[in-house]
Amino acid sequence: MKKLNYINGDWVGEEFESIDVVNPATGKVIGQIPNATSEHTNLAIEAAHKAFPEWSKKTSLERAAYLKKLHALIVLNKEELARTITLEMGKPLQEAKGEIDYANSFIEWFAEESKRIYGETIPASATDKRILVLKQPVGVVGAITPWNFPLMIAIWHTMPALRSGNTVLIKPSEFTPLTTLRAAEIINEIVPAGVFNIVTGDGSIGAAISPHPDINKMVFTGSTPTGKKIMQSCSGNLKRVTLELGGNDAAIVLPDTNVQEAAPKIFATALMNNGQTCAALKRLYVHEDIYDDMCQALAAIASSVTTGDGSGEVDFGPIQNKPQFDKVTKLAEEAKASGARFLTGGEAPAGPGYFFPVTIVADIADDTRLVQEEPFGPILPILKFTDVEDALQRANDSNNGLGGSVWSSDVERATQLASRLECGTAWVNAHAMIQPDAPFGGVKESGIGVEFGRYGLEEYTSIQTLQITKG
Ligand code: NDP
Repeated sequence: MKKLNYINGDWVGEEFESIDVVNPATGKVIGQIPNATSEHTNLAIEAAHKAFPEWSKKTSLERAAYLKKLHALIVLNKEELARTITLEMGKPLQEAKGEIDYANSFIEWFAEESKRIYGETIPASATDKRILVLKQPVGVVGAITPWNFPLMIAIWHTMPALRSGNTVLIKPSEFTPLTTLRAAEIINEIVPAGVFNIVTGDGSIGAAISPHPDINKMVFTGSTPTGKKIMQSCSGNLKRVTLELGGNDAAIVLPDTNVQEAAPKIFATALMNNGQTCAALKRLYVHEDIYDDMCQALAAIASSVTTGDGSGEVDFGPIQNKPQFDKVTKLAEEAKASGARFLTGGEAPAGPGYFFPVTIVADIADDTRLVQEEPFGPILPILKFTDVEDALQRANDSNNGLGGSVWSSDVERATQLASRLECGTAWVNAHAMIQPDAPFGGVKESGIGVEFGRYGLEEYTSIQTLQITKG
């Protein structure tokens, strides 16, 4: 399978060298993509720039109609998109289908909600004046997406952009570009040429996009170090940025929690997408009264699940890429060497494929790297606490601040504690629930700005004040 790039409503890129795309379950090459050059990238940005005036002039209802058509087309192409996600990302087919349905629910929401980007009329101090506050599209939006949710994050970045009148250039991760390329083709069946462009290549292409003077906003999901580089490179023309970066989310489980009810929910949210989720639960602090029961319950679930090639009947697929697999393996080795107690897993089977078993680790010290750093894989450390204030302090002792949660049968008490977690979203008796109507973003080094909800949509607009003096 050889794919080209979609620029200005057409496929281009045959002349460029290609990069292999590998199935993480088999290690086999499943396709090639062009390693775009800066010339290629400039062409795409120019196309987006040219398409902006016409696209931004369309009415809100017209743009909503485009998104509704896209929603229907994604439904029609669901099977093919899901198979591509499984092939290149590794997640089980059922889960890939779930990613598509979930992504589509955001398209539906943006189609409706963006009609409600309202401006304001401000009472003026002088009687001969009228002051209007408008929300204008920013221009060309550059989107750089990671490999963990190849369709969903592309939709998250680009649909609010298009919906509020911007045009787009997207660059997917070189690990999982095929789904996004197919999505770009589908989107281009609907939108005018130049409105939605895609280039593929390695990190150097991303690095060429973010400083470009004709890009007006960057939206990025990925690691904190790369997010920092992007932010620096956006300073040239003072681009707007939305950065959704790493998280090392803590959950605090209070002693009145019903372990049997909570354990499956905690397991699901920690291990979703094989742990390769920004807002997954990654550090579990459990009160000493129920610590052993919780460890036992989670270990029992972990022992009952299967890991294998996502195209078969399995619960979990491989880790998506070799660097990530190496990181998880190393963190597990270090934790073992530190004396932590492994309740399940801990060692990768012989290859091929980047498989790592679901691993539950108890009695682990706070200063272990597995606790300090986001593992982004199927491994969960469980830590014990006696005093709630101490648990809160340990949970907040992190440079990350994406999500957090508190679990308890006393919802009032849990809510109060949750509001003291230093993070962008705090859940009570749940974790990592992200939905189109609720703003989502990080504090500290987990990001800048929010996605979703009215606030997320407004990040794709600039305020323009109109001061009108009556003649
Ligand atoms: P990166 O942040 O390096 O990559 C994410 C995206 O950024 C990819 O599309 C990548 O392109 C692109 N990119 C890389 N370098 C640059 C640059 N200088 N300028 C612009 N774009 C660039 O993440 P990794 O894949 O290396 O994963 C490392 C860690 O990041 C994980 O262990 C995890 O902790 C975190 N992560 C967080 C995610 C989240 O959802 N918040 C998602 C993925 C990772 P290319 O692939 O072509 O190099």
